[in-house]
Amino acid sequence: MLCQSKTGEKTQPRGEKLKKRVSIIIPAGGKGTRFGEDKQLFQIGGKPIVQRTIEVFTGLELVDQIIVVTNDERREQILSWDINFDLTFALDGKERYNSVYNGLKEVKYEIVGIHDGARCLITSELIMDCLDVILEKKADAVFLGIKPVDTIRLYIGENEYIELPRSDLLAVQTPQVFRTALILNAFERFFKDPKKDVTDDINIFRNYIPITEGRTIHVEGDISNIKVTHPRDIVIAEEILRQRGEL
Ligand code: C5P
Repeated sequence: MLCQSKTGEKTQPRGEKLKKRVSIIIPAGGKGTRFGEDKQLFQIGGKPIVQRTIEVFTGLELVDQIIVVTNDERREQILSWDINFDLTFALDGKERYNSVYNGLKEVKYEIVGIHDGARCLITSELIMDCLDVILEKKADAVFLGIKPVDTIRLYIGENEYIELPRSDLLAVQTPQVFRTALILNAFERFFKDPKKDVTDDINIFRNYIPITEGRTIHVEGDISNIKVTHPRDIVIAEEILRQRGEL
């Protein structure tokens, strides 16, 4: 099906060209120590956090594979839920990057999106914003980010800090979307020569894939796309869902 664009030219509807060619990895492993109990299974409005996250992706027609990376116990729980999708599972690892790598080894399609299980307030619009960039071949890696509202100071030693220019900073979110071959390559290079303080996938991509081999684009994220980390985040998540009419 073709659509008429504003300029009159015939275009394909969002996601059409990618139909059935996208894998999604949902890292839902680790201990969640800052939360105090099993965060992924914690219920908001009667539904576990990770189930909410998974269901945003099962609702997208172009997603053909969803890989949930978690431990055996959570896997059993997830399998007992009524999710209308044939999920793939991978075992979690010690660090988030170990979990993501285990997920990457299961990926079947040329485009892969990686999204934290704990970010259950993600919307299909934001996911599509990222996928569209890859679809239109404008980049090989896409990440969501928002401008921080706080002033951020960098510790430079001996109790001294310098203030970083806020307009140059981004608070990075997920999903992050990649060409599968490139992000796999980045992870393989990372495991051969690991650097410290790697907290997400775009960071690994940028550190290990030269700009000439892989272009990166930032897409505007949303303040409501929080990562449930501390128990107080539940109150915020509930309020956002209420405002959306989902609670
Ligand atoms: O620890 P952090 O909050 O950054 O974790 C982000 C996401 O990565 C969470 O959804 C968590 O379940 C997942 N994770 C994982 N394996 C780990 C650590 C975290 O899948 N070893």
